[in-house]
Amino acid sequence: MTALPLPVLPERAFHRTVEQHTGDVLRAAAELTTLQINIGLVCNLACRHCHVESGPKRLGGHENMSRETVQRILSWLDENPGVRTVDITGGSAEMNPHFRDLVRGARQRGLHVMDRCNPTIIVHRDRRTGATYDWIPAFLAEHRVEVVASMPCYLEDNVNHQRGRGAYDASVEGLRRLNEVGYGSDPELPLNLVYNPNGPHLPPPEASLQEDYRRELKERFGLVFDQLWTITNMPIKRWRADLERAGQLEQYLDLLVTAFNPSTVEGLMCRHQIHVDSQGRLSDCDFNRALDLDMADPEHLRLWDVSAEDLAGRRIVTGDHCYGCTAGAGSSCGGSLA
Ligand code: SF4
Ligand code: SF4
Repeated sequence: MTALPLPVLPERAFHRTVEQHTGDVLRAAAELTTLQINIGLVCNLACRHCHVESGPKRLGGHENMSRETVQRILSWLDENPGVRTVDITGGSAEMNPHFRDLVRGARQRGLHVMDRCNPTIIVHRDRRTGATYDWIPAFLAEHRVEVVASMPCYLEDNVNHQRGRGAYDASVEGLRRLNEVGYGSDPELPLNLVYNPNGPHLPPPEASLQEDYRRELKERFGLVFDQLWTITNMPIKRWRADLERAGQLEQYLDLLVTAFNPSTVEGLMCRHQIHVDSQGRLSDCDFNRALDLDMADPEHLRLWDVSAEDLAGRRIVTGDHCYGCTAGAGSSCGGSLA
């Protein structure tokens, strides 16, 4: 189903703003370095801000990557050696039974692997299947996977408000188990945390918030981590619905549009990476996939239809949601941009 357009005036449309500042449409960089893979939408949580609307009910086979698709992606990586990083996301990616095959396959090829991990999954027990996930820290450490763990605040109320009752305690315990195997202290086992705002505002400055997180998590629980990355909430899907219910959508959009920062454009994640979903469908980023926006070239439908070279310099499909990436210090899967 196509999403309703965001209420942004035509003269303030994102593509116009980009053209005014750069003299061109938004284009990918000359080299594609990262493949982001959404392996499936099932998750043990159903967070209020989730832009892919993940949750425990998203179990459908068509929403979870099959073993065959994992193998096709690994073969594509063999043929495109310039792509050096694989960034795995979900849902809770670890809930897909082929997650470990994907990690092993990518590491055997010498690729850098990132796992976007919601740390509560580590202590989760699936009531339906009885599955447990306490294997995650040791498995990720053995394969030297970089962990990017969502932790929307260091305060209990804020985390539980976004993610549900008990999410804070489970997150702390999940992070403690990652620390136990060396994450956050061994330089080969990076642990980065991800913050997103709990309301209709931009993230605070990354460096000062990182110091707050470091101090509070250390003092309260003895937890350590490497970096804190701040991301802006995208006005799409659940967060858009929340804003609409509160009558705040237009105000939030105005905030994003007014805070457009041209210096973020160079580093936008869609310029350096590509997103592939559980069915192998391509999009310029996971936000575009969530909005069902395919690539500009209709022949670039699935990963195996293209080479990394074909994707260099391509026109990127944009919409007014893109202001979520360019507001203030900017926002990407790797945190702020400016
Ligand atoms: S943990 Fe992540 S994927 Fe799961 S519902 Fe929350 S935001 Fe979505
Ligand atoms: S939403 Fe996607 S396409 Fe738009 S600027 Fe952000 S990363 Fe690029």
